[in-house]
Amino acid sequence: MTEKACPKCHLISNKNVCPKCKISPLSDDFSGLVIILDPENSLIAKAMDIKEKGRYALRVR
Ligand SMILES: [Zn+2]
Repeated sequence: MTEKACPKCHLISNKNVCPKCKISPLSDDFSGLVIILDPENSLIAKAMDIKEKGRYALRVR
């Protein structure tokens, strides 16, 4: 299974289109992985402007 990251919202998925912002193609060149469980109370989520829980890449090229 190849995982890819959305260049816009950094959401990681195994699909070819971002399920959140419908962007395609997604990048397989990403680094770092953060799992956001509680975006309301997560400093990382605030810093990355993430509002939904999920798995996100720190950097997407
Ligand atoms: Zn996206």
